[in-house]
Amino acid sequence: LRENNAKHFWQPMAHPAESLANPPVIVTEAQGVRIRDVDGHETVDAVGGLWNVNLGFSCKPVKDAIAAQLERLPFYSTFRGTTNDAAVELSWMLRDFFAPDGMARCFYTSGGSDSVEVALRLARQYHKIRGEGGRTKYLSLKKGYHGTHTLGASVNGNANFRTQYEPLMPGCFHVPAPYTYRNPFDESNPEKLAQLCLAALEDEIRFQGAETIAAFIMEPILGAGGVIPPHESFMPGVRAICDKYGILLVADEVVCAFGRTGDWTGSRHWGVKPDMMCIAKAITNGYFPFGAVMIGEALAEAFEGDGSGKGSIGSGYTYSGHPVGAAAAIACLHETERLQVKDNAAARGMQLHEGLLKLKERHELIGDVRGGHGLMCAVELVSDREAKTPADKKTATAVAKAAYEDGVMLRVSGNNIILSPSLIIEEADIDKIISAIGTGLSAAS
Ligand code: PMP
Repeated sequence: LRENNAKHFWQPMAHPAESLANPPVIVTEAQGVRIRDVDGHETVDAVGGLWNVNLGFSCKPVKDAIAAQLERLPFYSTFRGTTNDAAVELSWMLRDFFAPDGMARCFYTSGGSDSVEVALRLARQYHKIRGEGGRTKYLSLKKGYHGTHTLGASVNGNANFRTQYEPLMPGCFHVPAPYTYRNPFDESNPEKLAQLCLAALEDEIRFQGAETIAAFIMEPILGAGGVIPPHESFMPGVRAICDKYGILLVADEVVCAFGRTGDWTGSRHWGVKPDMMCIAKAITNGYFPFGAVMIGEALAEAFEGDGSGKGSIGSGYTYSGHPVGAAAAIACLHETERLQVKDNAAARGMQLHEGLLKLKERHELIGDVRGGHGLMCAVELVSDREAKTPADKKTATAVAKAAYEDGVMLRVSGNNIILSPSLIIEEADIDKIISAIGTGLSAAS
């Protein structure tokens, strides 16, 4: 396996400097919140797959739903003049049960990057239909992450995800994120920082010309950029600015949705109704590649209102509304509700956050701990606390390596350790994660 992995499987993100082992860990089995590698070493997965296996690796009702759907109707497209019953049932569940907040329709995709691509395209189309075809630009947050397709990469805040592909889509501009630990304003008060970031957004809109901007896209809590929860005033402020200038607000809920933040969506924490929502990841618990864009009522009305078909989408995806993915998603929604995983995510998330804050008291390597909204936490490592000098990748990898030996799989992203375990995780396993990070920090100091 190792030899074939090294020879035949290109893993661009598994650079030796970021790997727990070289070649990388080969996972062969997973049950509950635990994974086992090819050497039989078992660990608690503090990554939750890739923040998608919210219900754990052995969620029987979802597996059963997939098996039953494969038996009954393994595939039928929702492309031209056909649809399938599983996709139809899922659309009303998503609308009436998961996101009743003014969402009218869903457009199915095969994952998060697709969902972002579709939402940003729809934003331009919406303005065009309304005679505002000059609205073609996109705004997003520095530190935001929106996937790998060309539009998503163009709005990614982190330049590392953009520069190697440039020139990307012209007309994409990035504004400061409300990242309290590091920001261009040197502001540590979250509320004041939110106001400064909102002012910067408004300045950028005026500078670009509001009549040229199609949409603003943001994660309600920034994920891959290092788990950055904004102050509660930030997203409502963004909503107000978007309304003022006729700009669509796209919430990238790919990470936040389905209970991860302790609620069904991240936007709901902030009491905000976006115009579109991108969802994927936990929608099928990681068991099937699937995603969707939830489309608000005003948009649906503009696209479909007079029945002329002017809003029809020029092209579609073969796998849009795949019945097996839809069946998995339906089962996931039922299980998320039945097991009340949102509540567990909130309680265990608090335990994890508090445990990490305690670690910070003992370990100089920790510069910042972020969390407080469900099971999304990050530990930012520094080589000098006073100067906030980011720790190098080698240090973060050394922490993860030692934690892995101690029985916990961590995810390293730059100088951050990002924690996003399955939402069904129990108290003892959260304690295990905290203690293994402690072991890792001691080993790396
Ligand atoms: N948006 C966000 C917020 C994400 O975190 C990700 C993936 N981590 C994506 C979009 C892209 O999703 P996918 O990997 O399923 O294409």
